[in-house]
Amino acid sequence: MTAPRHPSTILASAGIAAGPGRRALVPPIEVSDTFQWADPDTKPDYDYSRTVNPNRDLLVAALAELEGAAGGVVTNSGQSAALLALLTLPAGALVVAPHDCYGGTYRLIQGLADQGKLAALFVDQRDDAAFAAAMARKPALVWIETPSNPLLRIVDIAKRAAEAKTAGAVVIADNTLPTPLRQQPLALGCDLVLHSTTKALNGHADLFGGALLAADPALVETLHWWANAAGLSSSATDASQILRGLRTLPLRVGRQEATARAIAGWLAAQPGISEVHYPGLDSYPDHALAARQQSGPGFMIAFRIRGDTGTFLKSLSLITLASSLGGFASLICVPATMTHRGMPPEARAEAGIHPDLLRLSVGLEEPADLIADSDARPRGLRSDFQGTGREMTYEPVSFTAGACPANDEGPVYCSLPDAPLRVLKFGSSVLRTAADLPRVAGEIYRQRRAGKRMIVVVSALAGETDELFELARQAGGGGSEEGVADLVSLGEEKTAALLNIACRRVGLDAKVLRPEDLCIRTMGGGLDAAPLSIDLPRLSRLAARHDLLIVPGFVGIDDGGARALLGRGGSDFTAIFIGGEIGAECVRLYKDVDGVFDHDPADGVVARKYDEVSWADCLEVARPLLQPRSMEYARARGVRLEVEMIGSDAATRVGPITRPPQPRVEEPRLRVAIAGFGAVGQALFARLQDEPRFEVASILVKDAEKLRGSQAPAQLTASVEQFLSTEADILIEATSDLGAARSLCRAFLSGGRPAVTASKKLVAGYLPELLGSTADGDLRYSATVGGGVPALETARLAREQGRICRIHGILNGTVNFVLGELAEGASFEAAVASARLAGFAEADPSEDLCGRDVDAKLRILAAESFGSFDSLDLQIEPLDDELVGRIRGSGERWVQFASLIREGRSVSGGVRFIPAHQARDLPVLERERNLLSISLEDGRNWVASGRGAGGVPTAEAIIGDLYDLAKDRLVAVSPAAEKIWALA
Ligand code: PLP
Repeated sequence: MTAPRHPSTILASAGIAAGPGRRALVPPIEVSDTFQWADPDTKPDYDYSRTVNPNRDLLVAALAELEGAAGGVVTNSGQSAALLALLTLPAGALVVAPHDCYGGTYRLIQGLADQGKLAALFVDQRDDAAFAAAMARKPALVWIETPSNPLLRIVDIAKRAAEAKTAGAVVIADNTLPTPLRQQPLALGCDLVLHSTTKALNGHADLFGGALLAADPALVETLHWWANAAGLSSSATDASQILRGLRTLPLRVGRQEATARAIAGWLAAQPGISEVHYPGLDSYPDHALAARQQSGPGFMIAFRIRGDTGTFLKSLSLITLASSLGGFASLICVPATMTHRGMPPEARAEAGIHPDLLRLSVGLEEPADLIADSDARPRGLRSDFQGTGREMTYEPVSFTAGACPANDEGPVYCSLPDAPLRVLKFGSSVLRTAADLPRVAGEIYRQRRAGKRMIVVVSALAGETDELFELARQAGGGGSEEGVADLVSLGEEKTAALLNIACRRVGLDAKVLRPEDLCIRTMGGGLDAAPLSIDLPRLSRLAARHDLLIVPGFVGIDDGGARALLGRGGSDFTAIFIGGEIGAECVRLYKDVDGVFDHDPADGVVARKYDEVSWADCLEVARPLLQPRSMEYARARGVRLEVEMIGSDAATRVGPITRPPQPRVEEPRLRVAIAGFGAVGQALFARLQDEPRFEVASILVKDAEKLRGSQAPAQLTASVEQFLSTEADILIEATSDLGAARSLCRAFLSGGRPAVTASKKLVAGYLPELLGSTADGDLRYSATVGGGVPALETARLAREQGRICRIHGILNGTVNFVLGELAEGASFEAAVASARLAGFAEADPSEDLCGRDVDAKLRILAAESFGSFDSLDLQIEPLDDELVGRIRGSGERWVQFASLIREGRSVSGGVRFIPAHQARDLPVLERERNLLSISLEDGRNWVASGRGAGGVPTAEAIIGDLYDLAKDRLVAVSPAAEKIWALA
């Protein structure tokens, strides 16, 4: 047997020099109706063209090779191929066809059934029970059409063909939409495959044709007999033209499909579009089956818009309103009144072919032009979310201009404009009281450190919503809803304001939005409303200015401009809705359990956890955990979710598919030993009390005095032996003693245990030595540059994207604070004293003032950013009396400008003091703030900013390192866990 040839090769070589005579490359068209016989008894190969024709044979040969068929017949339309298939059946035979098949197929089968020639049964072939019942009636023919026209539903061909065969039926598949390039029904068990060659196979929209091919040579004979008897065959000219079109089929389908993917993805993200049917969308319910059965999702898309289809269709200028599909030009149609009008209205409704369903056949135009043509938003589409009956005009800008005063002015704190945007939601199961705020802020910091931009949605603290409802009742709110939403939504606003404070404490620049800023418009009852639209232009403006937006959940604005509530659990809805509307990278819902389980883990029975669960299954198993309405919305819009517990990083993903739940992977609790109990050590100790993943085994202090006092933690010791004897898993080095730091780190690293250090002097001076002392080099030092500013992480992210050529910024919070005070007119001594008082300067700030601190930071940054280089030449200007005099004399705000520049294999730079106005692209930063700007050779730029000094931000940077280590450790402990971490 010869190996199957590639479709492109089949089509490029089909019929070459196959004609008689001069052996032309392109076979001549043999239009003659008849052929000469040599004598009356010797029938020539070609005698009469209705029966047999050379051009038809060449086309059949090419199609049969593409489909893996023994042969077949090419007919004068797709419908005549369908008729041919039906002609082979005995009188009264039962035909089982899909309830959502092509309208012409329906018309033909039903028409023959109405005349009593056949019996017809139209069923939903995706429904096992309905299909089994149909098979019990022993059909003669089972008709499959997948993806179906127009809804693109997918039928499992192999499964249905096997069941039909068992019932004794012949199985036919209409393969017009996928073409033989994307699906091969005969290989999946069908007997016959049908094409309307009018469509993609010809591709040029200039003729009619059909084909019916069979796997079994005996069946091929029957087809020939009936085609000849009924006169269904195509003309030689059409056959030749179709072969001509076919030669470019692989190129056309590839391009059309790529464009369709782009358009379907774009449509799915549009608020004005309520449904998108396209097998290539991950969110599409039949996606997995399509991916198994087809080698590509094809070029057809069906969708529904919210509002008047007539207005939308009239506004199209590039896409033509016409039936047919698969050709070079993009065509749109309304199946209900165009291609499927042959179906009675009840049959259409039953099949889901609604009057507002549109079918788009994507052609060869430029994808961006097609998207621009179908962008319905500027055209005033109307919106009727979830069909609740009321309709509103989609006019975001005019609505918001009146009701929402602008809140998008002010400084820009968006350092990662191209970074993916995530929606995180913290409900009252995780933000129970204000004491939970640091932990939530810590989680947000960890996401920021991983290079994410975020919209954070919050609920009211535990119990507050009930208290506010009770207050409303006492105020006479009773049954009346008016004004109640205003009061109750204060709970969410309060949490948002609190979280802002907590985020700022760790150095994150957050922006809190009021419900009126976000403008989630609602419809339905004031206390149980449904979200309808969001002011996307405003939200995108805000997101472009801020890496972190904090949003009160549960509340929207009704069409009268009043606040409305989204019902119990409505903050989930806010998060999922925002995620769906903006097309967020992911929507992560933080809960007090680390995912979705097959039953409530609190039941006492061992619960198994889903890695991945479908929206539908989630609605079944996670009812109390996730608001059902919001899950329905997520399913309808294809919004993927992650359900997660703070710090666990082992989320359940909620999306189109379910994988069997597994016993949960236990996350090991790690014991840490903290060396040093100054500002950083204390902040760290306090924060670790909230972190169930970590336990403080011992704390080393220099001064035995610290051991006394009732507040002192029990783990404090002044003895190094005792400190080490606890055999902790990880060392956290936060001492100010370089010698101690060095030997402790060496002790841990050489024993194969990881260490985290906050000492920039240690890292700048001894990194190679320390890494040399350990097999796996597990030393983390995020806190050494920029305190809470994720400077090193950002450098790493940038370096993954290209070659870093320049770094500049403000890298010393203490000096920046002092310069701010000097600009206010303070003396040098007073400025330093204020910095000390505010906790941003050490008792002896000389390290900062003389520039040694920033020198060490630049060395570490250089190593992280440039990898290897031959020489590092740093010029450091100290903040001495002479300079202070000049600064004060100038009456201006100055900054300490740090830079690193790579030239060839050398890196140079340092710090110098300049008036702020000369630091061109750097915003003037207040107090202890730091900012780092990293430029790649290709011109792209990354920025990290935040609080550059202070115990709390530094502690958060260390906790970030601890989590990274814990993650690596879990991966090492359990290969199964690798997958879980991959989600983080
Ligand atoms: N099958 C499918 C899936 C179709 O879409 C069509 C036409 O639209 C046909 C069959 C019938 O083909 P023709 O119009 O060539 O007769």
